[in-house]
Amino acid sequence: MHLFTTIFLSFVAASVLVGLWLSQRQISHIRSHYTRVPAAFAGKIALEDHQRAANYSCAKLRVGRISLAWETLLLLLWTVGGGINLIDQWWSGYEFGALISGIAVIFSVLLMSSILNLPFSLYHTFVIEERFGFNQTSWQTWLQDLIKSALLVTALGIPLLAAILGLMNQSGANWWLYAWLVWMSFSLVMIWACPAFIAPLFNKFSPLQDAALRTRIENLLQRCGFQSQGVFVVDGSRRSSHGNAYFTGFGRNKRIVFFDTLLESLSEDEVEAVLAHELGHFKRNHIKKSLLLSSVMSLAAFAILAWLMSSAWFYHSLGVDAASTHAALLLFMMIMPVFVYFVSPLFSALSRKHEFEADEFAHFNSNYKALISALVSLYRDNASTLTPDPIHSMFYDSHPPATIRINHLETIAADGSSA
Ligand SMILES: [Zn+2]
Repeated sequence: MHLFTTIFLSFVAASVLVGLWLSQRQISHIRSHYTRVPAAFAGKIALEDHQRAANYSCAKLRVGRISLAWETLLLLLWTVGGGINLIDQWWSGYEFGALISGIAVIFSVLLMSSILNLPFSLYHTFVIEERFGFNQTSWQTWLQDLIKSALLVTALGIPLLAAILGLMNQSGANWWLYAWLVWMSFSLVMIWACPAFIAPLFNKFSPLQDAALRTRIENLLQRCGFQSQGVFVVDGSRRSSHGNAYFTGFGRNKRIVFFDTLLESLSEDEVEAVLAHELGHFKRNHIKKSLLLSSVMSLAAFAILAWLMSSAWFYHSLGVDAASTHAALLLFMMIMPVFVYFVSPLFSALSRKHEFEADEFAHFNSNYKALISALVSLYRDNASTLTPDPIHSMFYDSHPPATIRINHLETIAADGSSA
């Protein structure tokens, strides 16, 4: 066996074992806190809601394990099992030329992978979300979404792929720098275009109607020196009763979006506090920092790909007979997540740090008590567990666990009043 085959298989095995171990820890931890609401939430969250959150979290974790096993099996079949090789040989029989057959191979493999993963998406929406009362998606909406996304991915993906494969084939040793520039420009255009042109294909966005709430929000935006295209409400309730708020776009195209489901369940004070938190992400430059981080990461990824592409062992150790730019790109996209998995806790930690900073900002610019009560509502309504396993949380969670986050808010508020 090739040395790299052994390394790859060891990383696959290790990531599956760590994944299953963390999932088991999470389930046991949630189960062991099943009978009692944590003291910090007593009186705020009913035992019934606490147990619903536990059941919901465990149901998702159990499916997550089957999905992990399935995805791992597919990954092995595509690579060392010779799946990519088979598709590559089939297309090369048509002699379309390097660029067209490259696009055809990558699209065939990605299309088949998405079809093979569809059962999990269906099960998630129509079984789990349905059972816990979150699903509002009709079959019709689900199918429309699927067709629209497929068309969108094709319309945007083919030109991008053609540009990158073209550079890989023809622009010499520094192709990875040019390809990275194309990739970054594409990403920036997407961030800019998404709120105005892409998201409206799937949802309806309307300006916030409630006049009193609107005035409060506009005052807050002005206080924080934030210029935007305004505050929008999205009809999230068409698909799910989960609630959320987010901040999107950049430059003049930025906007704040509230889910209609969130506005229904929160008071004006709470909406203002949630918005202040979102503004905190903007004011503390979290968006710029994440963009910088992802541009450095993608530069490194292209540089590594350039090195792998010119190494014969890379193809042979992953089941591909003929070296080609498209095989290198496809193999790289497939195996990279296995290695990145082990550094993902660093990204989760950075994200949690940003959440703390945004909470601090919200504390200084609005009412922290309203933020706490909004968080409690969000945890209850989204059936998020209040008792995650600490190691599972450290590995995956983009947001600090509820207890720690609320403690942090109370601590900074106490420090602020004693200073
Ligand atoms: Zn946040």
